[in-house]
Amino acid sequence: MTDRPMPSATTDHERQYWQRVADGDVCIVRCHACGSASHPPRRYCPVCYSDDWTFESITGTGTVYGHTCIHRPTRTFEADAPLVSAIVTLDEGPRLMGQVDCDPAAIEVGRRVCLDTSTLSSDDVRLVFELQE
Ligand SMILES: [Zn+2]
Repeated sequence: MTDRPMPSATTDHERQYWQRVADGDVCIVRCHACGSASHPPRRYCPVCYSDDWTFESITGTGTVYGHTCIHRPTRTFEADAPLVSAIVTLDEGPRLMGQVDCDPAAIEVGRRVCLDTSTLSSDDVRLVFELQE
């Protein structure tokens, strides 16, 4: 058990999503009505407002869209400092925010990253990416 904060799910689809993440299966939502992909899961498609959608597993690969380095994070994340946080455009389209496990000098917009699902558990659902070559 860690002292890291955990997301609080308030709807069934949020509970399903966080359980999938804890099981190492990070997913997006695919709308059956218009075909768009989105994240995070919502009751209705953000494009066409349909409620006909399903979860779709991601490959975990993507491109850095933006990033920042947090040198003095909150106490809970002090051990991770300096903490590189990035918005990643997944190869499936949607963007996710996550941590990138790298030297802050190595991160840049356009870098390819891959999600490391090996650390995901019911105690830690932080999305951590690694730089690809
Ligand atoms: Zn739609």
